[in-house]
Amino acid sequence: MSDRGMVLFKKWVNKVRSFGPRVPGSESHQKTIEFLSNKFDKRRWLISKDVSLQDTPDGKMNFTNIIASHRSPRKKNKKTIILAAHYDSKVVDGSGIIGATDALVPFILMTLLARYYQKNRRRFTKETTLKCVYFDGEESIKEWTVKDSLYGARNLATKWAEEDKIKDIELFINLDLIGHSSAKFYNYRAHRESNTKNLFSDICNSEMTLRNKSKLKTNDTIFIDDELKIGHFQDDLTPFFKMGVPCLHIISYPFPSFWHTKQDDVDNLDWEAIQDTYKILKCYMRNYLFKKNKLKC
Ligand SMILES: [Zn+2]
Repeated sequence: MSDRGMVLFKKWVNKVRSFGPRVPGSESHQKTIEFLSNKFDKRRWLISKDVSLQDTPDGKMNFTNIIASHRSPRKKNKKTIILAAHYDSKVVDGSGIIGATDALVPFILMTLLARYYQKNRRRFTKETTLKCVYFDGEESIKEWTVKDSLYGARNLATKWAEEDKIKDIELFINLDLIGHSSAKFYNYRAHRESNTKNLFSDICNSEMTLRNKSKLKTNDTIFIDDELKIGHFQDDLTPFFKMGVPCLHIISYPFPSFWHTKQDDVDNLDWEAIQDTYKILKCYMRNYLFKKNKLKC
């Protein structure tokens, strides 16, 4: 992303930041839904909502996933790439946090990737189309359990399974905990178990290409092609992963030191690291979509 593009990135992050914590049911949560829906050109994207009323430790609550589906002119092909991040924010000690890395930066990042996709759609040789899913209720209402977490993701996975749409997902890319200076991403077990290990290696190669051309501002490697001997991180991908969907989990490890605290705010973001991460993912996406004729990053 150019430095000019970065101005837009910051502007959008600060705009959503100004709404306040995105706690389900709050006014700022509703404003975020409107903000995201308005960032898509309706002639090119179909915006739909997946709303569910679910039991939580605080009683019944509504959750709203926002889905932006690119209107592909090639209707025969149903295969999709999903870009996913959650837009709700966690309640800690009775009040909502901003969650700048969790997941404000990730969902703005994917919105900009969607813009890039739209601009270049006609040049891509692969017929896969893109869907952006902004998940609600990723965070637990109280303590993380199987039932108290991933409200939106569990609902959508069940719905798509009933509609026989799970098989159309070619790749599910889940972005989370992005934006702090020390963020590192690894080739996790989820990749080995869903046959996407090589795709993650491609992201690492995209970074190498950009670094060799001095196109990145940071000095340390961000995407590391090491297979960590750790288990799965529960995230929006989990219900889809369990159904056999190929998944890439772009989540930083270790988690930021300020994870799930009030310090997870815009002051703790590293804009150069964000810009580099965006450039790498854009380069990866470009190469993924130009199957035969790889473009240089
Ligand atoms: Zn979180």
